[in-house]
Amino acid sequence: MKERITDYIAWFIAKLIKPVYQNREAIMSKKIIIIFASIFTIIVLGVSFANSGKTQNSLAENDIELKTVEVQQIETVEPIAKDTYKNSLKTKSDYKYMDIDEIDSAMISAYAIKINNEDKVYLKTEQDAQNVLYDLKKIYISDDENTEIVKIYFDENIEIEKVYLNVIDLENIRTVEDALNLIVKGTDEERKHKIKRGENFWVLADDYKISVNDLIKANPEVVPERLQIGQEVSLIVPEPLINVCTVENVTYNEKIKYDVVYEDNANLYKDEYRVKLRGAYGTKEIEAELVKKDGRELGKVVLNEEIISEPITKVVYKGTKNPPPSIGTGVFSKPLSRGTITSGYGMRFHPVYRTYRMHTGVDIAAPKGTPVLASDGGKVIFAGWKTGYGNCVVIDHGANLTSMYGHLSSISVKVGQKVYKGKTIGGVGSTGTSTGNHLHFEIRKLGNDINPNKYINLYKYY
Ligand SMILES: [Zn+2]
Repeated sequence: MKERITDYIAWFIAKLIKPVYQNREAIMSKKIIIIFASIFTIIVLGVSFANSGKTQNSLAENDIELKTVEVQQIETVEPIAKDTYKNSLKTKSDYKYMDIDEIDSAMISAYAIKINNEDKVYLKTEQDAQNVLYDLKKIYISDDENTEIVKIYFDENIEIEKVYLNVIDLENIRTVEDALNLIVKGTDEERKHKIKRGENFWVLADDYKISVNDLIKANPEVVPERLQIGQEVSLIVPEPLINVCTVENVTYNEKIKYDVVYEDNANLYKDEYRVKLRGAYGTKEIEAELVKKDGRELGKVVLNEEIISEPITKVVYKGTKNPPPSIGTGVFSKPLSRGTITSGYGMRFHPVYRTYRMHTGVDIAAPKGTPVLASDGGKVIFAGWKTGYGNCVVIDHGANLTSMYGHLSSISVKVGQKVYKGKTIGGVGSTGTSTGNHLHFEIRKLGNDINPNKYINLYKYY
């Protein structure tokens, strides 16, 4: 039993020791760690003990120093940056893209577009500055396929330079769009006027003491004659900070004027002309070099001209017949060389007024512009607009007789002019109360309308 107990103890000890022997190296390293740890602990304790007197003090000083640094940082940088940032956000939402984390000192970097060596416009990045200049040029690059930009340049000396701005100048940094607007207009100022009834550029020019020309410059997209009530117009005349010059090669067509030749015609009276052949403009293609500043043409050099179509010469008959004397003969002739009677003299249902009323003349339909001839010689006593009759001519033939010609498209005689029988006095038209091109022909005796057929059988001709 004793032996068994001894054996058991021996087995137990062997079991305890066995892993130790199996992991000698591990034991060794554990020992080394324990040794080093002990030495470190002794040193730390020793140092702590040695310095125990003044330790509290130096820690306190460090604390104060750290706090001072933090306070300084907060006071000198962050609050200013944040406030400025917030203020700028209040005034201009465009600065949202400014990242607050980038403001790590009182100075911020920006890129200046320098115009003739002067900082004029600030942007956040060099790319933004480049984009502004690119967009500025793009305004003046025509997308017309007949225009080729040979050269495009700025009239001023332009540079982009990295600069440092005080953080309080943050809001001077512009977006590309804003910068472009400033460069093109020359100012941030906006002065608008809303058009009221009866106002136009001439009225505004007087009210605001600026010239009509300047108003046109300030509103290049507005057609002065087509202003609408409520439309907003700018009162700021743009004065660009940078002027863009272009040299363009353009090709365009130009009209070529036609010649006019005259041919004698014995059927016409001496002062009469008739077109035999209508003239037509020719066309030439022109290649030219245009020099422009801000889109305004400064000069042009024609490089080449090529005729595409020749003009067609206009041929005009010139009368050679001696006209009859310009006096009344008492014998009337037809007022149109040809036409169709559409309404006779007498009571009729009026096509416009829709009532029965007296028709005081004879209507003869004919194409617009057909020459209207004096039915007899005499003196023109009226040439102008008459209510209902439109353009109208009245000729006094003497012997208390007058003839009247209404709805004319044109009048070619003047009051007081003496005309012979058959003289062209105007053209057929549809002016006044009329539903189509026709001549209203009247003869009056002592001022009262009479049936013209008493003097000339119009139904024989038309
Ligand atoms: Zn009539």
